[in-house]
Amino acid sequence: MNIGKLYIISAPSGAGKTSLVKQLVADLDDLTVSVSHTTRQMRPGEAHGQDYYFVSVADFQAMQEQQAFLEHAQVFDNFYGTAQQTVEENLKQGLDVILEIDWQGAEQIKKLLPDSLSIFILPPSTEVLLQRLRNRGQDGEEIIARRMRDAVTEIRHHDEFDYLVVNDDFALALTELKSIIIANRLTRQRQLHNLRPLLASLLS
Ligand code: 5GP
Repeated sequence: MNIGKLYIISAPSGAGKTSLVKQLVADLDDLTVSVSHTTRQMRPGEAHGQDYYFVSVADFQAMQEQQAFLEHAQVFDNFYGTAQQTVEENLKQGLDVILEIDWQGAEQIKKLLPDSLSIFILPPSTEVLLQRLRNRGQDGEEIIARRMRDAVTEIRHHDEFDYLVVNDDFALALTELKSIIIANRLTRQRQLHNLRPLLASLLS
């Protein structure tokens, strides 16, 4: 059976992770992104079941007690978690799965599934990060200042990741992310499954 690969993608907010992942999933076949559960309020433009499953703290805790999460963490003032079942089903079907999670979740996944690959996306500079957070027009200066402090905390964990990608030029960062995924699909371990008939005929 061909088992998919699990990718962890983390970044400080404002690095462009969500846009990159959206494009990546649109451009590559057999790649899906896991939809997390969160207790945070839905933002304008977000949809339940698409961006997140928006749940109450009580529902989140019930899932935690049922051990329904592959990983979970408190990020800022809210809880976030990755439901185990869908991820496992997708991997079993041979799909590559992306988890867009923070460094705490990445740490848990790496312990649980050491074969997963982790990618950290960096902004090109502090100034650009600040500008991107301001350009979102979502938050006031106080929240932005907090996000900048949280960004430094997140970036401190870069050394726990397998790959580092700088999102300065979007198209280049996207190509780099695709390269990581495509290179993994070409490993002998994964190719052997697809190429068994070809190899059998070449060697007969
Ligand atoms: P936001 O609320 O801005 O969408 O996400 C805030 C942070 O929570 C981001 O760093 C995002 O990667 C992280 N996050 C989103 N979903 C999960 C999850 O399921 N688990 C963990 N550990 N972090 C998550």
